[in-house]
Amino acid sequence: MENREERLRRIEKESGIDRCVECGRCTAVCPMAEMYLNFSIAMSPRGMIKKALTGERLAADRNLWYCTECNAGSDVCPQQVSCRDLVRGMRRLALDEGKPEGMSLCPCCGEPFLAVPVEDFVLGRLREEPPNVKEWLKLCPACRREGYLRKNA
Ligand code: SF4
Ligand code: SF4
Repeated sequence: MENREERLRRIEKESGIDRCVECGRCTAVCPMAEMYLNFSIAMSPRGMIKKALTGERLAADRNLWYCTECNAGSDVCPQQVSCRDLVRGMRRLALDEGKPEGMSLCPCCGEPFLAVPVEDFVLGRLREEPPNVKEWLKLCPACRREGYLRKNA
């Protein structure tokens, strides 16, 4: 059975973050920049990778829960780093270490997620949308992104 350090090393190895050259391409295509008014380097893929590489406790960082797990950053990464795999691994670690405060279960996919503080902004933008679109606010970021993609297909 691996200990915490071994598990962290495995997550880092599987996501390839030690290959990151900090070019920023992943952050340039990350959909969180459009989804969240409070988007910042702290929640960006590059920012999360940097935290993991510098030994910050990413598993305890609430910024970990904004990601949609879309993998767009990996598709453009010249170093085959997977921001999605890093996030997934760290989320599983966080859940194993105790559910972060304020977690909900997504009624669509059943995965746990942390509701993020964008509701006033999002509600404002959705004022003219049909009720089923407003229901997306109850979904996790990944299911919300899927709904948005379907609507705009
Ligand atoms: S695109 Fe790849 S190499 Fe560039 S910052 Fe993102 S993870 Fe690092
Ligand atoms: S997997 Fe997460 S961090 Fe990576 S591009 Fe998608 S939303 Fe951004």
